[in-house]
Amino acid sequence: MSLAKTLLFLEDDKDLQLLVGAFLRERGYRVEHARSASEARAILEKMPVDAAIVDGLLPGMTGADFIRELRQAQPTLPILFASAFWKDLKSHEMLTRQLGVARIVHKPYRPEELAVWVDQLFIKTLPALPPPPPPEALESPSKEADPGALDPLAAKMAALNAEYGAKLREKMSHLGELLGRARDEREALEGAYSATHKLHGTAGSYGFAAVSTAAGRLEDALRPAKDGGSADWGQVTVRFQELAAVASTPGKNSVRTDTPVNATLTGEGTLLVVDEDPSVLAEVELLGRAHVVRVVTARTADEARAVLRRQWVDGALIHMNLGAPMGGITAAHALRAEEGHASLPLAFTSSERGLEGRVAAVHAGASLFLARPFSAQDFVSAAERMVAARRQERVRILVVDDDPEAVTALTHALASESMEVVGLPSAYGLLDALTRHRPDLLLLDVRMPGPNGFDLCRILRSMPEWQELPILLITAQIGTEFRLAAFQAGADDYIPKPVLREELRARVHARVERARMARDRAERDAATGLLLRRPFIEAMRTRLSEAQRQQKPLALCFLDVDHFKRVNDQHGHMAGDRVLMHLGRLLAARFRREDVRARWGGEEFVVALLGENAQSARDILERTAAELSQMRFEGDGGESFHITFSAGIAVAPRDGTTVEELLRVADSRLYRAKANGRDRIET
Ligand code: GH3
Ligand code: MG
Ligand code: MG
Repeated sequence: MSLAKTLLFLEDDKDLQLLVGAFLRERGYRVEHARSASEARAILEKMPVDAAIVDGLLPGMTGADFIRELRQAQPTLPILFASAFWKDLKSHEMLTRQLGVARIVHKPYRPEELAVWVDQLFIKTLPALPPPPPPEALESPSKEADPGALDPLAAKMAALNAEYGAKLREKMSHLGELLGRARDEREALEGAYSATHKLHGTAGSYGFAAVSTAAGRLEDALRPAKDGGSADWGQVTVRFQELAAVASTPGKNSVRTDTPVNATLTGEGTLLVVDEDPSVLAEVELLGRAHVVRVVTARTADEARAVLRRQWVDGALIHMNLGAPMGGITAAHALRAEEGHASLPLAFTSSERGLEGRVAAVHAGASLFLARPFSAQDFVSAAERMVAARRQERVRILVVDDDPEAVTALTHALASESMEVVGLPSAYGLLDALTRHRPDLLLLDVRMPGPNGFDLCRILRSMPEWQELPILLITAQIGTEFRLAAFQAGADDYIPKPVLREELRARVHARVERARMARDRAERDAATGLLLRRPFIEAMRTRLSEAQRQQKPLALCFLDVDHFKRVNDQHGHMAGDRVLMHLGRLLAARFRREDVRARWGGEEFVVALLGENAQSARDILERTAAELSQMRFEGDGGESFHITFSAGIAVAPRDGTTVEELLRVADSRLYRAKANGRDRIET
């Protein structure tokens, strides 16, 4: 069985079909072209398709009407809707909610852009992503001396662009001829309108942005007449002349100027829903499609783990009684035990509202509890909260380049579900952008009007706040002199133009990874991955003021392993180390993301639980104690043993309002727990 996905591509402009079809095929899709609703119907009768791309305006029919018809037979087929008109909120709602359109793509689009959205339709169902495309040059082909030296796809795109450019003259004379008769002949008017509409929607995709824009204006001028009213024919003539002018010098317009520079290709968030009830899964899939969240489903803990290994998810919503009473808790533990997911955001759904369930959920890491049956609104707001929490964890890249095309190319090359890219068109505003986005890495074009890349680098390196920020320079020059200048300015690395996609990704990843490791070394305990004392106190300060603002309690728990000296003495120091590592990892994998955990020192740990009072914090910690007592450790001589801990809990604002006060109270209660016989929690 072939894994290639079949796309129904319904678009009446054959030039656009040619371009986009070639691009999609190159990416491994099978593309079935239809130019009218009836051609599309014939295809659908002949074969199953995996997704459809539907143009907004078809011959004799609107795209929306066609989708309505299509939905009768295919209620869940993923659909992209392409439109040259800006969709107001109401039509947007109608298309996405009622007709279940996955995304509205605005024309003119770039084929790469469409491909991104098509890829995204399948992320949740593809067993494996298609093999990565060959390294792709990001520079536009026209800048290259020898387009044949580029990879085959880029060369093909360049050839298609040139071909379209050559046909523009012919299209214009045909349009001129139709317009000449349009005043008197309805058919000519329709033809002229349709040709203009196609230019508007397609020329930009081939790189002729100005032609697209001018055609859009002509289309506006023609619309009243086409809709049965009367046109301002003087204006139509002016608009046509403007269009003819830009179309006759297409070379000048081949640089896109209409690309939104602030495009962040973040896509939506992805939520994993784990539930054995197929009707719940079907419903959340629909809800997800209608709103801004992509939903991936799993029916068992094992299926859910397989999803995590395959793709990025922003959070998991788990049925509390999955398969068995409290089966969701076990599933949550299993998910967080997956490599790199110790702090996966979690939420539970349950029809029971007992306190015990809530305590278990918090301990397992649930930031949210959704009562069943839940409403669409509840689900959507839960999903949004989880996605927002995880989004802060994404790697953020800031790109500064005065060429919007370059920004778009870099964005496309880098943006992924785990990486967010923000573009800035000039050096002005850089400091603001840095403060606002707090990027993990900065990509700087060397040659820009105003301060250039070297200048910016030097300026940033003189500011303590940005001294550690990884900076990569992008440049066409790579001589020795340039390299020296780059390093003297304080850049971490430089990337030669033309930028190769794979190389760019690899270098950016390497730098980001290295910077993260350096930060972790300074802030985290290597053995357990938990925060060290100083960063913990800083995080506590933030949590305390949050708790105050929200008028919620905050529980600080001080934990100390019982008779740890004996563990070292009887089972060996190595065994002692293993105990600390496992306890630290247990603390890291339980609790909610917003709960702060640290290794205070030696065999002492601290946990801060936001929104919990003395009683609930104690109940939650009892679960940790119970789990720990179940863990079997092995001594250096092969013998096995168990351990316990004692804990003291202080709660703000009851026991104090500063970190210091809370620590003091918690410590004195810990002392009392020890005095009272250990293996207990004092509040
Ligand atoms: P109590 O129940 O009163 O807490 O008794 P205890 O033995 O746990 O307390 P004490 O504070 O007297 O001893 C803690 C011991 O922990 C002393 C130290 O050698 C050991 N320790 C501290 N850090 C580490 C470590 O990283 N690895 C190992 N193996 N031992 C450690
Ligand atoms: Mg101690
Ligand atoms: Mg101890």
